Amino acid sequence: MTRPIEARISLGALEKNLARVRKYAPGSGILSVIKADAYGHGMVRAAQALSSSEGFALLDLNEALRLREAGCKQKIVLLEGFFSREELQEISAKNIDVVIHCEEQADLLESCLLKKKIGVFLKCNTGMNRLGFRPDVFREMLERMEALECVGEVVLMTHFYCADGQEGVAGQMEAFGIAAGDSGRPRSLANSAALIRYPDTRFEWVRPGIMLYGSSPFEDESAASLGLLPAMTLSSRIIAVQNLEKGEGLGYGPIFRAERKTRAGIVACGYADGYPRHAPNGTPVLVENRRTGTIGRVSMDMLYVDITDIPEAGIGSEVVLWGEGLPVEDVAKACGTLSYELLCARAPRVPVVYT
Ligand SMILES: *Cc1c(COP(=O)(O)O)cnc(C)c1O
Repeated sequence: MTRPIEARISLGALEKNLARVRKYAPGSGILSVIKADAYGHGMVRAAQALSSSEGFALLDLNEALRLREAGCKQKIVLLEGFFSREELQEISAKNIDVVIHCEEQADLLESCLLKKKIGVFLKCNTGMNRLGFRPDVFREMLERMEALECVGEVVLMTHFYCADGQEGVAGQMEAFGIAAGDSGRPRSLANSAALIRYPDTRFEWVRPGIMLYGSSPFEDESAASLGLLPAMTLSSRIIAVQNLEKGEGLGYGPIFRAERKTRAGIVACGYADGYPRHAPNGTPVLVENRRTGTIGRVSMDMLYVDITDIPEAGIGSEVVLWGEGLPVEDVAKACGTLSYELLCARAPRVPVVYT
């Protein structure tokens, strides 16, 4: 037997979650965001499961080429655009769209003779101050793009920094409205949180990521209540059991000392598999389908779970770290992070099994 850790990916859940996006944004084209190896789910297989999307968004030209090689005919958008002149010919030859977010990219595009037209997502910085042109120069940049022979369709885009939180999107929507004016161009604004919560952000193209993978973008609303199904279940097994006397420690540090006689299950999953090292005592896990908590500090290859009250648990028992039966958001919350980070952190050494 091989090391018992695996990430089971439900292709059916991906498909159903895409159908949920369609329900929320019935009039929009869907650019499924499959950056970061489809948030740890495996880019090519995820894209195949999401093949009724009108397009895909990712970061790296090599990923886009892999998708084209796998037969993807839909729109593909590079969310950070291109990084050097050398990439441009291949990008246009393979019919890949680029985000243009800075002067330097616009200059390069202007100085390049391309054989085929290239689709452009022109990015407006409406307050996140990460990528994009400020509203006061956005129209001028749009005119520059429109003047270029090699530029095909131009989509106007921006990205929200607080669609999931208190502040919302009103300020950015106003800034975008002023910048985009009545240009009549298609628009792409909404991530998962925005497309669920703010119908007026949906426009022609939505860009869902996290919800496709079955996780809620909101702290105060569960994935289940949004009709989303977890796509990744990270599981492993107990490979040893230790019986601790009261007062004994466990693992490095140790950050755990037994307050009672404790049965500890040693699980084949550690931070080198992508489980967060900073998970505190009591981070939720399922053992034999029963909820218990981690104890002790997560090490590179192993973590420990309290099975004192699960007498049927022993060597070989299945442990679900997150996924079906245990929302990844619950684990993330206990660790002071987001489901995004946990899903993306799935390490290459964790085998992926598609179901
Ligand atoms: C990652 C990303 C998205 C997807 O965001 P989710 O919150 O996962 O839905 C959308 N647009 C851009 C520009 C992104 O970088």
